[in-house]
Amino acid sequence: MKNSPKIRLFCEAVPAVGQTLDLPEKAVHYLLNVMKLGRGDTLLLFDNRHGEFAAEITETGKKLCRTLITEQTVPFSRSPDIWLVFAPVKKDKTDFIIEKSAELGVRKLQPVITARTISEKVRADRYQAQAVEACEQCRRVDLPEIGAAQPLAKLLQNWDSGRILFLMDESGQGAPVAEVFKSFRQQPAAILVGPEGGFSPEEFACLRACPFVRGISLGLRILRAETAAAAALACWQAVCGDWQ
Ligand code: SAH
Repeated sequence: MKNSPKIRLFCEAVPAVGQTLDLPEKAVHYLLNVMKLGRGDTLLLFDNRHGEFAAEITETGKKLCRTLITEQTVPFSRSPDIWLVFAPVKKDKTDFIIEKSAELGVRKLQPVITARTISEKVRADRYQAQAVEACEQCRRVDLPEIGAAQPLAKLLQNWDSGRILFLMDESGQGAPVAEVFKSFRQQPAAILVGPEGGFSPEEFACLRACPFVRGISLGLRILRAETAAAAALACWQAVCGDWQ
């Protein structure tokens, strides 16, 4: 592994260049026992605040992996101001939503409970772990924030009207996605994707009555929630985000 800093880990706080950092126990096991790294090997660390740094392992022990922070490799920057509001679906599909959204540069993941949400539990800790892993892999230097799950009505009540909410509308009543995104290029935004059963008629009525909501369509094919979320985020990044 010498001289090829490929392993990239999130850390709560990376100290300044020249300082040492003892990695947390979980990382110690992974690096020393699983990846078989040792003294002199290098890795990358980022902390959601200062950016990404190269670090060299200087000392190891049973539960110790001491590193020296050698240089800053990437300055800190935040992902574009796009949120994904999603109704939790089955476990592996929700994992997919979290992973792909993190890769697609979402700034916040906001679980929402709708009338037809089938998922029993919202596992914020699991969401967090999934998001961290995706960010480690895709070289993000910031982590998406994970909001506490809220019922749809409450979410709408407390919504900051300066943030446009794009309603992913599978009924065919939404406007073509790229057109809508183009007209809200400079605005903080969120994309709302429904559960497997879609939104109820009451929810559609309530959503369409909100002044900050705009319906968007991804065409005639009905996509699975996780496909719809990833597709809409990709469109947003291309039209309004950092793919431009
Ligand atoms: N059960 C519903 C489909 C739900 S699909 C039905 O059969 O009508 C899950 C979610 O994905 C929807 O609530 C919507 O937010 C999004 N979605 C799926 N296909 C879409 C499309 N073509 N355009 C916009 N949103 C879509």
